[in-house]
Amino acid sequence: MTKLVVHVPHASIAIPDDIWPEFLIDPERANHEAMVSADLYTDLIAREAWPNVEIIEAQVSRIVVDVERYEDDALEEMSMVGRGVIYTHDHMQERIRKDPSFETRVDLLARYYTPHWSKLRAAAIGVTLIDLHTYPAEVWPIESDASGLRPEIDLGFTDGLTPKAWVLALTQHFSDAGYEVGHNTPYAGVIDAGARAAVMIEIRRDIVGVPGDCDKWQRLIRVLNALPLNG
Ligand SMILES: [Zn+2]
Repeated sequence: MTKLVVHVPHASIAIPDDIWPEFLIDPERANHEAMVSADLYTDLIAREAWPNVEIIEAQVSRIVVDVERYEDDALEEMSMVGRGVIYTHDHMQERIRKDPSFETRVDLLARYYTPHWSKLRAAAIGVTLIDLHTYPAEVWPIESDASGLRPEIDLGFTDGLTPKAWVLALTQHFSDAGYEVGHNTPYAGVIDAGARAAVMIEIRRDIVGVPGDCDKWQRLIRVLNALPLNG
């Protein structure tokens, strides 16, 4: 079986001390936005479900720098709503932060984006990569297409990066466990980090439960732990 690496880009809620002056909202609201925007517990899910695999995690909240975005705003559709690689708006599309100066942008990318991608690309060589996320059950105002189905498990895949047979095996696995599975909806595709095979798993937040003895949590961990990985 190919080695597995798990990418966890959105679990952190950390806002470094020197970032605070950039926000136009009070710390309580900024912390709240970091919390709401985070794919909370995806770091714990990864560690519990796959205790022995390498996990590549972002070091800061996505509202500081979002490592899952394109570095170039011209390529990044979410930059249109103030949620490109450097967020200026919250999930309700209200402004929360100044437009970064050129120097700030270069500095933030050098500190958090470039090193993350160097690490991810190095880890991804020759392995099976799972890009792990959660997403809200309700549609957010920042979403450009609100019409997509929102299944309990959304498998995101891209031709050339994700073998079809693997998508079918994963779909079967989650369906057999009683989960509702969708393909590339509401979010589509998987990041290209140079892995041998890659898939995005987006878990709808209402089925995550809370870490510990919670039935939802235990069921999710069990099913992820037994995932067919022969991508
Ligand atoms: Zn995410």
